[in-house]
Formats: sequence, structure tokens, C-alpha cells
Amino acid sequence: MNKDPIHLLELASEAAKKAYAPYSKFRVGACALYEDGSVYTGCNVENVSYGLTICAERSAISAAVANGEHGGLVAIAIFSPDSELCFPCGACRQWIIEFSDNAKIIVQDKTGKPVEVSIKELLPNAEFMQNVRQVLQVNNNELHP
Ligand SMILES: [Zn+2]
Repeated sequence: MNKDPIHLLELASEAAKKAYAPYSKFRVGACALYEDGSVYTGCNVENVSYGLTICAERSAISAAVANGEHGGLVAIAIFSPDSELCFPCGACRQWIIEFSDNAKIIVQDKTGKPVEVSIKELLPNAEFMQNVRQVLQVNNNELHP
């Protein structure tokens, strides 16, 4: 599998073409890369009840989980033909860090170059969630078997 950020953005771009975004017209695709080299793509799926909309990132991660990937998220590329620097929303940042606190986020700038940041940069102080897991008595082995 080609792990080049540009290639991952290309796969995200292909996924964006499948977006179901009749309300916002804001099409987004995502491509999640895992340690074993697997990639999973997703697109945003809107609903007339806006709150039920799912973002491309969560769509891609859901596809990965459905195929047995629980841990090992290495990177997720996000692309929109309707906006540069399409960073994940707050909900998606929380989803991404659920599966890896070291994931790279790859977006495209207005010149077409990939921009990479870590999920920790986008979601600071997320260590707090480890405290929540302790309260819930869930250990990391249960999260990523
Ligand atoms: Zn989102």
C-alpha cells in the first residue's frame, strides 16, 4: 500500500465524489490508513435532520471497524473539493483519538500540498479521556484487542 500523503488525499478525493450532501453541498471524503497497510475510505452522509449527518472521517473509521480494525490507525487524510484545509470537526477529532492518540491528520492546502498535523495538536488535553476510561474500568486491551 502506498502510504504517501498525496496518494491518501487522492483516495479521499475519490471518496468525496460519493458524498451524499444534498443539503450543504459540502462534499468530503476521508481515507484512513492502518498499521497493516489497509486503507478505508468514507464520505459524508447527510440527513434532512442535520444532527444525524455523519462526517467522512467517522464514515471511514466505521468502515475500518466493520472490517476488524480496532487499533492501529496511523493516519487519516481528509479532502473536500469545496474547501482547502478541511480539518476534522470536534466530534471527528474525538473519534480519531479513540482509535489512536498518535494519528496523523492530512489535509490539503490551497496550493494542493499536503499539510500534516497530529491528532494531539488538534485535540489537546485528551489524556483526560484515559481518566474517564479508568472510571469506566475499561483498559487499553479492551479498546484495541
Ligand atoms: Zn466531523
